[in-house]
Amino acid sequence: MHIACLDFEGVLVPEIWVGLAERTGIEELRATTREVPDYDVLMRMRLGVMRDRGLKFADIMAAADSLSPLPGAAEFLNALRGEFQVAIVSDTFYELALPLLRKLGMPMMLCHRLRVEADGSISDYQLRQPDPKRHAVRGFKSMRYQVMCTGDSYNDIPMLEEADRGCFFCPPDNVVRDYPQYPVARSYAELQAAFSAARQAFG
Ligand SMILES: [Mg+2]
Repeated sequence: MHIACLDFEGVLVPEIWVGLAERTGIEELRATTREVPDYDVLMRMRLGVMRDRGLKFADIMAAADSLSPLPGAAEFLNALRGEFQVAIVSDTFYELALPLLRKLGMPMMLCHRLRVEADGSISDYQLRQPDPKRHAVRGFKSMRYQVMCTGDSYNDIPMLEEADRGCFFCPPDNVVRDYPQYPVARSYAELQAAFSAARQAFG
């Protein structure tokens, strides 16, 4: 028995906070897990910028709502679901992911929560658990599933380390340079082939 674990932003959908940067013109919000390896540092920066600029949850929600899955993502996901049970393992937030999940047919999602106050400001965020991607894969393995995973960025390394198999999907050069041990898929066709090969190897 086997499970596919997919990162969300950068694999199936665009970066949600980059969408907010584009709507607001705030350059600092362009930073993602592709450039900032420490997720807590990244989120504290994002929430600090939002507070300083008076941006509310509704602003980032509007950015999330305006996005569509990456071209070909829905077709890839549907094809993959023919071979694997699929879990999306993401460092985004349920509150933001929902519009995009609906556009992808509501696949299983493991991610985090934002703390939104009565005035609509975001005061904090709450990780589902520490080292969440590693623990998700470890959990599936403890249930005797074999796991193949993919992601595009530094926050996917614990998942790649823990899974039986894994590859990057369209990662930036700095991530490939820092982690040359993992194979790289640069299109959904290549990614599909990597998952099919894993499926064969798992038996
Ligand atoms: Mg990503």
